[in-house]
Amino acid sequence: MKAVVLEKQGEITVRDMPLTQSMTPDSVRIAVKNVGICGSDVHYFTHGRIGPYVVKEPMILGHEAAGVVVEAGANVKHLKAGDRVCMEPGIPNAKSRAAKLGLYNLDPDVSFWATPPVHGCLIEEVVHPAEYTFLLPENVSLAEGAMIEPLAIGLQAAKKARIVPGDTAVVIGAGTIGIMCALSLMAGGCSRVFITDAKQEKLDIAAGYPGLTPVNITRADPLKTVREATLGWGAEVVVEATGAAPVYPGFVEYSCPGGKVVLVGIPIDPVPFDIAAIQAKELDIASVFRYANIYPRAIDLVASGKIDVKKLISKTYPLAKAVEAFNEAAKLEPHIVKIQIEL
Ligand SMILES: [Zn+2]
Repeated sequence: MKAVVLEKQGEITVRDMPLTQSMTPDSVRIAVKNVGICGSDVHYFTHGRIGPYVVKEPMILGHEAAGVVVEAGANVKHLKAGDRVCMEPGIPNAKSRAAKLGLYNLDPDVSFWATPPVHGCLIEEVVHPAEYTFLLPENVSLAEGAMIEPLAIGLQAAKKARIVPGDTAVVIGAGTIGIMCALSLMAGGCSRVFITDAKQEKLDIAAGYPGLTPVNITRADPLKTVREATLGWGAEVVVEATGAAPVYPGFVEYSCPGGKVVLVGIPIDPVPFDIAAIQAKELDIASVFRYANIYPRAIDLVASGKIDVKKLISKTYPLAKAVEAFNEAAKLEPHIVKIQIEL
């Protein structure tokens, strides 16, 4: 089966790979159709590692996928051949303490697509547990289905923010995940979301959504902008979505007294954090690691029209041009949000 394989750092090929997973009565076999390229895929390509996860053997890339069911196991009730679906890339051990508590994203034994040594889903077919495979409604395309994974992270952030209707929010960073967070905060009841970045092209994309106010940090003082807009009070919710070290010493300043801060971006090294400033406002700090029990909500929000992910798909490449797609993604051009590969 044709697959997109990271042979080693800096080298991707499209070549035959065997389908190593075998069907069980509880799994489905899926013809993969659309896969989004994530920053993590690009990072494995350009750096060969993310933190402790090192690419030592050729690895199939990709974890943001939608496809069509080819075969459903005997125990599978909610899916049948021909159904269009999207898949959650992380599979926990169902018997783990974390999974039993509903915190399955935090199971230390979770197996996650395209995280070494686990292969990803950029291959013509995958076998996947049915309970992590979700039916797409008629009006949600396969391309949108492959956007559910990054949207799920935004929704996990909105859930952790425990939004109260009418909250004002600030999102630091207008990359794919920053925009997903902002859209999720709006869908969750915020009245407005300020989204900050240094790249105007990214902010222009965010500006296309109602409720989102872009702030270019090279042209305006974002703290002053937020303070003025909130009559000096600050925002009820602040989401950090860059992981960039220079952001951390000051970003809690956006928050109002008693506000909530959600950490989504992952800094490469430990960063300084102003504890006294956090205590002075009794801020609640929440953090996000992937998501749990969010996919059905993400799909419903896209199907209902409350969240439009279509305009975030910047380019689509056929499987044969996957190397070109990854080279393009590695350029990190600011006007490109999501690149997808169509199989
Ligand atoms: Zn991703």
